[in-house]
Order: sequence, then C-alpha cells, then structure tokens
Amino acid sequence: MGKATGFLEFERKSGGEIGPKDRIKNFQDFHAHLLQREQQQQAARCMDCGVPFCQSGMMLKGMTSGCPLNNLIPEWNDLIYLEKPDRALGRLLKTNNFPEFTSRVCPAPCEAACTCGFNDTPVTIKENEWSIIENGYAAGLIQPNPPKVRTGKKIAVVGSGPSGLAAADQLNKRGHSVVVYERSDRVGGLLMYGIPNMKLEKNVIQRKINIMEGEGISFVTNADIGNTIKAEKLIQEYDCVILACGASNPRDIQVPGREGKGIYFAVDFLKATTKSLLDSGLKDGKFISAKGKRVLVIGGGDTGNDCVGTSIRHGAKSVVQLEMMPKPPVERADDNRWPEWPKILKTDYGQQEAIAVYGYDPRTYETTVTEFVLDKEGKVGKAKTVRLEKKTEKKGVSFAPVKGSEKTIDVDLVLIAAGFVGAESYVAQAFKTELNERSTVKTAQNSFHTSVPKVFVTGDMHRGQSLVVWAIKEGRSVAKEVDETLMGYTNLV
Ligand SMILES: Cc1cc2nc3c(=O)[nH]c(=O)nc-3n(C[C@H](O)[C@H](O)[C@H](O)COP(=O)(O)OP(=O)(O)OC[C@H]3O[C@@H](n4cnc5c(N)ncnc54)[C@H](O)[C@@H]3O)c2cc1C
Ligand code: SF4
Repeated sequence: MGKATGFLEFERKSGGEIGPKDRIKNFQDFHAHLLQREQQQQAARCMDCGVPFCQSGMMLKGMTSGCPLNNLIPEWNDLIYLEKPDRALGRLLKTNNFPEFTSRVCPAPCEAACTCGFNDTPVTIKENEWSIIENGYAAGLIQPNPPKVRTGKKIAVVGSGPSGLAAADQLNKRGHSVVVYERSDRVGGLLMYGIPNMKLEKNVIQRKINIMEGEGISFVTNADIGNTIKAEKLIQEYDCVILACGASNPRDIQVPGREGKGIYFAVDFLKATTKSLLDSGLKDGKFISAKGKRVLVIGGGDTGNDCVGTSIRHGAKSVVQLEMMPKPPVERADDNRWPEWPKILKTDYGQQEAIAVYGYDPRTYETTVTEFVLDKEGKVGKAKTVRLEKKTEKKGVSFAPVKGSEKTIDVDLVLIAAGFVGAESYVAQAFKTELNERSTVKTAQNSFHTSVPKVFVTGDMHRGQSLVVWAIKEGRSVAKEVDETLMGYTNLV
C-alpha cells in the first residue's frame, strides 16, 4: 500500500468523456484520460485490503463479483503509485492476456466489489489498468517475445474471439505451434464485429494481433470450419483442436409480421456498420442504415444500448428501446448488498446520447411487441406493443400482458437484441460433440474436454453468452488443460 492515507485524501476522479452531442458525430472512442500524476493519486486510494474483494472473481447469487481473472489489483495499484510502470505491467500481464481490451469494454465487476465502494466510491481500477497497458505500449515495452523452444505439438483454435485468442496466446507461450481459424474476414470475434468501434477501436485489436503474429501464431481468416474446411482435416492434422466459436445464435421474436423487411438481428446491424466503417469509412453503403428512420430496439441490455448508440450515429429520426423487465432501482436494494453486482439503473452511453439528442430516455420498461404491421411491399411500418406484468410464482418468473395497455408505434427499422440461445449447431455437429440443454458444448464440470477425443471447447461456446473477461479466463483455463494433456504436466496459470 503506497500511501496509507490515500483513500482519505483523494476523491475518486475519472478521465471523463466527450459530451454526447459531440461524440455522436463519429465512431471514435470518446473516453478521455487522466494525467499520470492524477492516475497515481487514484491508485493511492487503494487500501490494499487484507481480503481484496476486487480480485476475488466469485459468483454471488449468479452474478460476478470481483475480477474473474483474479487480476493482482492491489499490487499494481501500489506499483502505479510508486512510479514503477514496468513492474506494474509485469503484474498485470501475469493474469490478463488482453488488458487493452478489458480496460475498455469490461463492466468492471472488480470496481463493483471494491471495499472503497462499500461506503464511498470505488478505486478507478479499470482506468488504472488502461494507464498501465497504454503506458506500456507508449514506452515500447510491449514487443513480440516468441518462445525460445518449440514442443513440436500442433494446435488448431477455431474462432478468434477473446477466448480463442487467450487460449492461443497461452499455448504459444508454452512453445506449441498454434493456428487460429476464423470464419470472418477479420480476427477478433465479437470484439471486432459485435462491440462497436466507439467502445473498442479496431486498431487496438490489430495492434495486439500483430504482436501475436510476431510471436509465431498463425491466423487464417475466411475459414469456416465445418463448412469450407472439414472438421476431420483439423482432427487429423493437429494434436488438439479447441472450439472457440462463441454463442451467437440470436433469440428471435416470434410474432406476426416478423418476416417483414426492415427487421434485423442486432449483431447483423452492428457487424455491417463496423465492416463498412473499416472497409470504406461507411462510403460503400454496405450497411443497414438507420438514417432518418424511426428505430425500435427490442431488448434493454448492453447489445440494445450499442444499437441505440450506433443508430444515433447513423442519424436516426427517433429511437425507442423496449425492455421486458421492470425499471431497476436507482440504489442497491436491501437484498442486493455490496460486494454483489449492483442491480441498479445504469444509463449507458447510447441512452445518454438519446437523452441529449431527442430529449427523452429511449427505454420503455415492462413492454414487449405483439405484432409487426407491414405495408403493401412487406416493409415494417408499425409495431403493436403491450405492457407486461411480472409475476413471481413457485415455478419461476412469468410475464402477463396488461389488458388495455396496447399501443401502436410507427417504426421503419427494428433491431432485435433479445439475447442469445447458445452456439450455432453446425460446428458442434461437424465435430460430433454433444450439446447440453443450454445449447452449448457439453463437458464434465471444471473441464473443457468435449465428448470427442482431442477436441476441447472454450468461451461463450462453453459457458453461454457472457463477458470478454470470462472469455479470457476460459481461454487461459482450456490452455492449461490442453497443455497438461499434451505434455503430462503444465506450468501455465
Ligand atoms: C453486441 C455485443 C456487445 C458486447 N459488448 C460487451 C462488452 O462491452 N463487454 C463485455 O465484456 N462483453 C461484451 N459482449 C460479450 C462478449 O463480446 C462475448 O462474451 C465474448 O466476445 C465471447 O468471446 P468468445 O471468444 O467466446 O466468442 P466470440 O467473441 O463470439 O468469437 C467467436 C468467433 O468464432 C468465429 N467462428 C464461429 N464459427 C466458426 C467456424 N465454424 N469456423 C471458424 N470460425 C468460427 C466467429 O466468427 C467469431 O469470430 C458483447 C456481446 C455482444 C453481442
Ligand atoms: S478492494 Fe478496492 S481498496 Fe481493496 S485492494 Fe481492491 S482495489 Fe484496493
């Protein structure tokens, strides 16, 4: 603990953001950052707790509390304060392969569990992490560091999201030869073609891929395993295959008129925008434009929020976001105490932007769509909605429509962000791996080995749609099991 009285002396201070009305003019990252001296003061707020809840990574009531990667947070807070950036970087990279991603997109369960947050504001752990990794790049400390010895073992990773990348990085460090196969034209999974550019600029991904290539990992894009390349080929050619294909099968809305034109899944909308942005600065017109349209986003979660922010940047005429669940409380409820994840109202960047641009919060709670009304050309023109009443019964939670609450709203573009229902089945079928009741690939508990010899699974394809930080954790864990299987022991952590 660098400064014993830091938490008493310094208030929490963030780098801040560009205001909503300015940042919607482009798709660039809108976060500002503190000066080094200020970041040091923020690190000094850390109390180096005897029980550092920030790094615990527990599941409490089904929600994450503390860092799933068990990042050595108090140690690097101390090292930032003591002006030892190289040592802070070393401690950070010991547990996290990709702090450049997590310090931008993680919802920071570490901060939600920080002891300082019990009766004050938590330590700025996420921004401290950003400063360590970005100062590391700026100082030239992050260079390719290939393994000195190769084991002769060959591993194929299918899917280049954060989980596949973490597994590849760990196994390459151990000296195995790793090839990552990716179906898309660009590497990164949902980091690349899910999370919008303003949350994670795509050159940040490419910067890390360049380092990984320099360390000997090969990437093959436009390679759809189970389709354009046979699963058997990989099983024959490699000592192990790791499936890291995500869980991107979207949940649909089964209502009359769903087949209408102008109704899309959220990820298709977000991907098309990012691809066009990267290919041509949106000049090729090959994206689903919300310009001048009345947009209806179905789903009040983070993906829905990304759709709101992206639609506003396109120049949408209006945006409405429907959420089935009731509006959360502004403060923690009595049955949701620290260090549990706080189930409170969060007004995310897209919603802040909608408030600034249109003058209203786009979210409508306890409401769903019952029908899409199509015009003569089959294009969506209206959506019928109804309010829902949440009922908690013995067999679980159910929602009943409230009579007389029906409404019809004008819409030109509908984006379905209603969650995901597991992995796409064709990859599992191609490898003959069993699926479980959640449509993710089945393994024994605490194992990543599928029902097929040599074939392992990781990330969302294993645990279901989750977070980048969990995907990295899974990638590190599958790497450990694969290494042990191949070598008879492992020294990976
Ligand atoms: C819109 C959106 C926004 C999100 N925002 C956040 C956020 O801000 N913070 C956060 O922590 N989490 C966020 N998440 C969740 C997070 O992105 C995922 O949990 C994480 O990316 C999962 O990583 P993964 O490696 O398991 O799979 P994915 O990232 O889904 O990657 C899987 C990859 O496998 C490839 N693939 C699939 N099948 C094949 C095949 N047959 N052959 C070759 N390649 C194949 C896919 O093309 C894809 O590139 C978001 C999710 C979405 C949908
Ligand atoms: S819980 Fe907060 S104050 Fe305690 S060690 Fe972690 S970051 Fe520091």
